[in-house]
Amino acid sequence: MTTTIKLNTSLAAMASAFTLAMLGWNMAQAQPSQTGVSHAPPMAEGEWLSYDRTLAGQRYSPLADLNPDTVGKLGLAWSIDLDNNRGLEATPLYSEGVLYTSLSWSRVMAVDAASGDILWSFDPKVDKAKGRHACCDAVNRGVALHGGKVYVGTLDGRLIALDAKTGNEVWTQQTTDNSQPYTITAAPRVVKGMIMIGNGGAEFGVRGYFSAYDAETGEMRWRFYTVPADPSKPVEHPELVEAAKTWSTDTDWSLGGGGTAWDSMAYDPELDLLYVGTGNGSPWNREIRSPGGGDNLFLSSILAVRPETGKLVWHYQVNPGDTWDFTATQQITLANLEIDGKQRQVLMQAPKNGFFYVLDRATGELLSAEKFGKVTWAERIDLATGRPVEVPGARYEKEMVVMWPSPFGAHNWHPMSFNPDTGLVYIPYQEVPGTYSNEGKGFVKREAFNTGAGSSEILELPREYTSGALVAWDPVKQAAAWRVEHDNHWNGGTLTTAGNLVFQGTAAGKLVAYTADKGQPLWDFDAQTGIIAAPMTFRHDGEQYLALMAGWGGAAALFGGDAAVATGVRNVSRMLVFKVGGGATLPKLSEPPVTARVPTPVVAAKADIKQGELLYAQYCAVCHGTGVVGGGVLPDLRHSSDAIRAAYPAILLEGMLESQGMPNFAASFSADDVEKIRLYILHREYETYMQAMQPKGEGDAAITAVEE
Ligand code: CA
Repeated sequence: MTTTIKLNTSLAAMASAFTLAMLGWNMAQAQPSQTGVSHAPPMAEGEWLSYDRTLAGQRYSPLADLNPDTVGKLGLAWSIDLDNNRGLEATPLYSEGVLYTSLSWSRVMAVDAASGDILWSFDPKVDKAKGRHACCDAVNRGVALHGGKVYVGTLDGRLIALDAKTGNEVWTQQTTDNSQPYTITAAPRVVKGMIMIGNGGAEFGVRGYFSAYDAETGEMRWRFYTVPADPSKPVEHPELVEAAKTWSTDTDWSLGGGGTAWDSMAYDPELDLLYVGTGNGSPWNREIRSPGGGDNLFLSSILAVRPETGKLVWHYQVNPGDTWDFTATQQITLANLEIDGKQRQVLMQAPKNGFFYVLDRATGELLSAEKFGKVTWAERIDLATGRPVEVPGARYEKEMVVMWPSPFGAHNWHPMSFNPDTGLVYIPYQEVPGTYSNEGKGFVKREAFNTGAGSSEILELPREYTSGALVAWDPVKQAAAWRVEHDNHWNGGTLTTAGNLVFQGTAAGKLVAYTADKGQPLWDFDAQTGIIAAPMTFRHDGEQYLALMAGWGGAAALFGGDAAVATGVRNVSRMLVFKVGGGATLPKLSEPPVTARVPTPVVAAKADIKQGELLYAQYCAVCHGTGVVGGGVLPDLRHSSDAIRAAYPAILLEGMLESQGMPNFAASFSADDVEKIRLYILHREYETYMQAMQPKGEGDAAITAVEE
C-alpha cells in the first residue's frame, strides 16, 4: 500500500477544524443572509466533516468553483471498483486530504483524495448470517470523524472507534443485545464529545432506542428508549411513563414496539438541542400492536433532547398511531426562514408519509405541512392540533387498501439538501403505491418481516406504477419551484452548492448536475450502475472535487421486483471522484451472466405452489424480489443454475451459502417447506418467461384496480 499523503498535520488540527465548523454554523445562525436563511460554515469551506456536512443537515457546500460555467468540464479524476456485493449508501467525509467512507457489511476505508489510493481499510467481520436481520440490505451510510478517530456503527450493533491515521481499532462497544435482531446502518453523529447512535430492526420486533457514548473512552453516557416496555418492570427514564399512557393496556410487549432511530439526527448548538427521528411500530399494524388504539409514543416522531443528558425537551409525532410503516427517520434539516415576515428557526422534514413539515425547532410547534407528492391516506395536517386528517378506510381495519405513499415512502433515507441561496429543498421524491390488509388475529410473530399488514399480498410491483422525481421544494410557500421527472423510483440523494448547482444520481445510473434555481440540466455522467447514495463535494489543493459512492442496492433494489429491474442496471460498486478537466474513464462493464434455459410448466399440486408463494412472500421476497423478480443486487432465483437448485435443502436448512450472506432458515422451514418454495420459484420462472414471450396484455399486474 502506498501512503503518499500526510494524513493529518495533527490530530488537533482536525479537532479544531471541526470546532471551527461548528462555530461557523453558530455565526451563520446569528447572521441570516438576505434570503433570510442561514449560511453554511464560512470557515473550512472545503471540508465535509459529518454525514450531512454539518449537523444542521443541509448538505449545502459553500464551494462555488463548480458552477454553471464550469460544471460542463467536470470529468472523472479517478475511480475505484470495489469488491462489494451489496448496496452503497454512504456519503464520504473529507478532512485534510483524505476521504473516509463505508461500504456494505459495515466496512470502512480511507482514500487519498488526490490519487484515489486506498490508505487503509477496516473490516469489522460482521457475521454474514446477520444479513437476515437487515431489513433493507447490508448497507452502511457512513462514518463520523472526531479527534483523530473514525467512528462506524456495524450491522451487528457495534460502535467502533478507529485511529484515523491507521484504521486500527481504538475501542469497541456492543450497543445492542446481539441475540435480538438489531442492526445499525446509520452514520454516527458527534455532539459535544459524544457519539450519538441509534439502530434498526422494527420490522423484526425490537424495541427502539438511541444512545450517547463518550468519544474518547467509549463509555455509554445515556440511552433514550423510544417506546415503553413491559409495564410490570421499572421504567428506564420518566418520559416512558407518559408514553405508556398512549399504548393500550392489552399491548403485547413481546412484539418489541419498534420506534427505531435508524437514520436522521441533527443538532443546533445555539439551542443546545439534539433532534432524532424515530421509525414505525412493530408490527406495522396498530390493531395488532396496540389493540385498543392510541398514539403509541414515541413512534414516528421527531424528538428534541438535551445532548448531555438525553432528557426530552419536546416531541412532535408525525404519524400518531402509525399503521403504515410511515417513519419519521428521514433527514432532519435545520435552517432560518422568513415566514409571515418573521425570522423563524425551523426544522424541516419530508418523511415517508408525503407531507413536508416545517416546525419551530425551539418549541416543536408545527408551522406548516403540505403534500410534496401523491398522498391518498390523509387529506391534510390540521395545524391547530398538529394531527393528520386521515381519510376513511386508510387504516385498513376491514378492507384492503391501495394507497400512496407506500412503505417505500414518498421520500426515504436518500438525503435531501437545502440551499440557503435559493431557499429551496431538493427532495429525492418517489411515487410507489402500497397495499395494506389487516392480518388481525391471524398474525403470528416470525423471524422475518412482521407487518401484520398482509405484506404477503404484495406479489408483484409492476414498473408502470412507480416513478420518481427531483423536487425542488419551497418550504416557505410550501410548493414546488421546479421538478425533474424520473422514470424510476429509488433514485439517489442530493447535494447543493453555492455554485447554484444541485447534483443527483438516478436509479438508471446517471449522475446529473442541474442549476439550483431553475433545474436546468447542465452535465451528466453514466456510472453504469444504479445510484442511491448522495454525492458530496470538497476542495483539495485549491481544486473543487465531487465524490460519490455509486452502487445499486437498498430496500427497493432487493424487494422491488419488476419495478426495480426497470432501470436495466445492476450493482457495480464504485467510488467515483470528479474534477474539472478530469480525464479518467471507467473500466468496460462485463456482460451480465445469462441463462439459456427454456423453462417448462411445473407439474405440482396448485395448493403446494400457493403455499410456496406465501412462504416466499413472507421470508424470501424482501431480498430476492417480490414475485421472484430480482432487482439487480442479489441473485435472481429464476435464473439459478441447476446445481444451485439441487442444493436448496443444503442452502436453506444447513447454511451452505451463509458466508456469502445467504442465511440459514432451518429454524423457520421444514424440508417440505423448502420443496414448496422451490416449486413456486420454478412456477414463476415459467410464468414470467411466458409473459416476456407475449405482448404485454391486461391482467399481468397484481395491482390492477388502483384508484387515484
Ligand atoms: Ca420500517
